[in-house]
Parts: sequence; C-alpha cells; structure tokens
Amino acid sequence: MPKTDLGPPNYEQFLPPVIKENYGSWKYHEIVKPGVLKHVAKSGDVLYSVRVGSARLLSMDKILEYCDIADKYCGGYLRFTSRHNVEFLVSDEKNVEPLLNELKEKGLPVGGTGNSLKNIIHTQGWVHCHSAATDASGIVKAVMDEIYDYYTSMTLPAPLKISLACCLNMCGAVHCSDIAILGIHRTLPKINHEMVQKQCEIPTLIASCPTGAIKPNPKLKSVEVNPEKCMYCGNCFTMCPSMPIADPDNDGVALLVGGKVSNARTGPMFSRLAVPYLPNNPPRWPEVVDAIKNLIDVWAANARPGERYGEWIDRIGWESFFKLTGLPFTDKHIDDFIFSVPSFRSTTNFKW
Ligand code: SF4
Ligand code: SF4
Repeated sequence: MPKTDLGPPNYEQFLPPVIKENYGSWKYHEIVKPGVLKHVAKSGDVLYSVRVGSARLLSMDKILEYCDIADKYCGGYLRFTSRHNVEFLVSDEKNVEPLLNELKEKGLPVGGTGNSLKNIIHTQGWVHCHSAATDASGIVKAVMDEIYDYYTSMTLPAPLKISLACCLNMCGAVHCSDIAILGIHRTLPKINHEMVQKQCEIPTLIASCPTGAIKPNPKLKSVEVNPEKCMYCGNCFTMCPSMPIADPDNDGVALLVGGKVSNARTGPMFSRLAVPYLPNNPPRWPEVVDAIKNLIDVWAANARPGERYGEWIDRIGWESFFKLTGLPFTDKHIDDFIFSVPSFRSTTNFKW
C-alpha cells in the first residue's frame, strides 16, 4: 500500500485480528444484553462489542482511562462511534463479564442497543461555535441525567434517537431525529455599519442569505435587512462578523419530533415542529428537560411495539399527538403560507 502524508492512516492497521481474519465473512449478530452485541463469523469466530456512552467532549484523562480498560480486556482494541459511544471489542469471551464488572465499578454506562435511547448527539454550543443560540453539551447533560435509564435498558417501544443542534444552520441531525432540540434565534442580526465596510465582502454577504432578506445600503456603504423576510438563521453572521445575531434575552430552544433516517417498515421522515420556543435556562434547562420527558413518556405509553416516534404520530394523527402530549397548537406550527411543500401540518389538512 502506498504511503502518503495525506489524510488519516489506513483503517485496516487498527482492526482487531478477529475482524481482519473474518473480513466480509460475518454470519449474524445478536444483542446478548443491553449494550452487548455478539458477532458470529462464518468460521465460528466470535467478537463481542460492549457499548459505553460517553460525553462528546472528552478529557485526555478519560481517553487514557478508556485505553487502559481496552488494554486489559480487549488487546487494546476499541472504537468510537458516531453517537459518541466507546465500543470495547472483546474477542475472548471470558473477558466480557470482568469488563462489564469494571465498567459498572467505574460508573460507565453500558447500553444504547435495541429498543433503547441512543446516546444523544450534539453540536458545539457555547463551548466553541460563533452562531450558537443555545448551549449543546450543557442541555444534553441535563436531559441525559433525567432519561439515563432508557439508555441502559431496552424498555422503549422502538429505538429513540435524540439530537441537538445549537442553531438552525445546523451541523447536527435535527431534521431526521425522533426528538430534536434546536437552538433558535428570534431577533434580527445587529448591523455594525462601520465594521461591515471594513470586514465584509458585501456581494458574498448578500448572497449568503437564504431568503434574500439582505440588500445593499449604498449610502452607508453597508447593507440592510428586511425584517419581513429574515428567518433569524444567522447565516449572514457566518459570512460577516459585523452582523452578530446572538441575543441572550430572546434566544432559546425549539423541539421537533418524528424524524428518522431508517428505511425499516416506513421510509425516512423529516422532523416536525412540536414546541416552538422554550427559554435558555442554564445550567440545567428545566423547561427543556420536562418537555422532553413528557414527549418520551407519552410515546412510550401509547406506541405499538416497534413503532418509531414519527410512525406513531402518523398512525394516531397530528391532532391526537397534541391532545395526548397536552402541547398547545399555535400559529408557529402552520407552515403552508409560503414555499409550500406537501405537509400534513398545513392548515387545510388540520381538522381543528
Ligand atoms: Fe455552530 Fe450552528 Fe453547528 Fe451549533 S449548529 S455548532 S451554532 S453551526
Ligand atoms: Fe438572512 Fe438569515 Fe441573516 Fe436573516 S439571519 S438576514 S435570514 S442570513
């Protein structure tokens, strides 16, 4: 294999020997218990993967702790999943129980398989991103503390994927999650005209607005924003730091429901707006935590086995969803006024 200094090293060199030897020749896998999968190869070889939920932002100490555990039970082999889990890859069956005991002793949660809550995925939040309307890891920690037991058990009707994006430019997966937490701005970007002249490329800035809300202001050698067209996305701020949009008093969180990427039983679905606004209330975001618990409890009590969140809403109807959850239906839920797309949220389809 040619060696280059570009890109990541070839993944093959990091595979456990049992995966290399049985590459492409696996027969089946099964969930032995929450968080523990048994993979069986055609040759009869077996590999266990033990899934541990982790935070997205990890200290060096925590990573070294994971590595020490992997050295002890897995010949040093582990992998990080796209939902911020660590999976310990155990090829010696007799190491599985001792590994689980040590994970329990250390308070590391094993789960996230089958009909469980998957680890919540999230974006950067106040830790890192410039256009965040809410925090990411802070809310996720507060929510996960409350619904932790759904991660370590498999007692839900179907898999439950929750995601958070801290603005609607969205480097998260909130458009296709069972429950989505979305940071929203609610006020116009504030233009610093003097700085726009110095910092920003005006044609690029105008082109950055998805709704065409920005036009030139030749008198000031700057731009102006049409408040009727602005949807507070913050995209202009990404192009021009002289148009900050963060607003501590008005930014907050919206909740969406019913999205999925899976093709099982029904096709993929987009998430729909359920709760238009909840305040940012750090450090524990009690309003967001309560609303999410309610959304999960009502679904868990009423869905049929195997029914994902959006499938359940499709069966009972959007009106019944609002009745069962006790959420008010507001003008913010109607989306058929412009740029109409086929949607059962439209006013004419709504039976109330
Ligand atoms: Fe930044 Fe928006 Fe991504 Fe959050 S979702 S990290 S604010 S681009
Ligand atoms: Fe346009 Fe979004 Fe900026 Fe509003 S916030 S002006 S919609 S780019």
